[in-house]
This record gives sequence, C-alpha cells and structure tokens, in this order.
Amino acid sequence: MIRIGSVLVSEGKGGVYGEKMLKGYRVWDPYRSKFAALAKIYDGIDLESERDVLYLGAANGTTVSHFADYVRTVYAVEFAPRPMQDLIEVSDRRKNIVPIMADATRPVEYAAFVSSVDMIYQDVAQPNQAEIAISNLPFLKKGGTLVLMLKTRSVDVCESPESVFENSKTILESSGLEIEFSCWLKPYHKDHVCIVCRRV
Ligand code: SAM
Repeated sequence: MIRIGSVLVSEGKGGVYGEKMLKGYRVWDPYRSKFAALAKIYDGIDLESERDVLYLGAANGTTVSHFADYVRTVYAVEFAPRPMQDLIEVSDRRKNIVPIMADATRPVEYAAFVSSVDMIYQDVAQPNQAEIAISNLPFLKKGGTLVLMLKTRSVDVCESPESVFENSKTILESSGLEIEFSCWLKPYHKDHVCIVCRRV
C-alpha cells in the first residue's frame, strides 16, 4: 500500500468524490472507508497490481475507486439503484471497474460476468454476512483472500457484538477458510469488525 508519512493514499489521476489530494495522490480516509481503516491497523493487507477483486456492497464507488487505483480489475456488485448510478459514473472514469447490479446473496446472477478472483472484499451490512461471503467463495482462487467487513449490529441487535464476531469466525472456519487476521475497526468505525481469511 502507498503511504505518505502515515497517510494512506492511492495513485489515480485526479479526485473522484471530492477527497483530499496530497502530493498528487488521492488521500484514502480510514474514517470513510473500512478498507483504509484495516490498512491503518494491519500491515499484512495489500492490494497487488495483478490482482482481480470481487467487491460485494460497492455502494457509490468510494472505496471501489481506490481499489481500482491499485488492482487490475474490480468486479463491483451493488443492488440498490441510487448508489448504482454513482458507481456507473465512477466506472466511466476508471475503466477497470466492472459495475454489476445484482444481489450478492444470489451469485448465480453474476457468475457469467465475473472471472475467478484473487480477493473477495465484502461490505454489505446485512444479517447473514458470513453466509453471503461463503456463497461467493466459488469465485475465489485457492490461496486467495476474503476480507469481510462485518457490521455486528446488522447481524443481530440482541446478540452482543463480541459474540457475533466469534460466531462469524466459526461459520467461516467451518466452511474451510483459514483466519489470518481479525480486528475491531476502532477508532475508525464503531461496532464493525474485519475478518481476513485465506482459502486453503
Ligand atoms: N463498501 C462501501 C464503501 O466503502 O464505499 C460502503 C458499502 S455500504 C456499508 C453497504 C452497501 O451494500 C450498500 O450500498 C447496500 O446497498 C449494499 N448491499 C447490501 N446488501 C446487498 C446485497 N445483498 N447485494 C448487493 N449489495 C448489497
């Protein structure tokens, strides 16, 4: 990852959503993007240029646009029409983004458009987040990385965030994934955890 001092940046030419620029680079704000928060917390995460990424929960393309500065192709899945319009505009400016309007719980809907990928990044804030990730695993190459951003309050408001975190890890491990790293995204994002897994 590219850093200027302690500031995470990406290299795309020109701003996309009004982000700050620093020495010609786009500032990637950890308070705005959970992936940037992870990169601040964990040195072991990287986006290599030859990578293809399946991004679930693309929203209006804020974090997607930074991914596109680093990787070869971003398959960006979003099901809500309004953010999808913004995502399409972003993909007009970043030709390596493939915007896909589809429901991440139904990977069969977009299987024809997505090749096998080196990373799945998921940020969907839904009750069944671990299960959605597992249903998309057929796209992930062996040795590939799953990065799951989990909004613990979306899974079950009655369950403690700690137990949602532990249960989600158990679900992922029981589907054959190896957990490489996990953390809370404090102080950047409240009640959010990140689980980084390897497909063995
Ligand atoms: N990752 C984005 C970023 O950093 O810019 C923010 C994502 S936002 C927290 C969650 C997004 O996931 C919303 O735009 C929502 O519409 C989308 N989403 C939720 N469930 C989904 C599903 N089943 N399929 C596709 N998109 C979904």
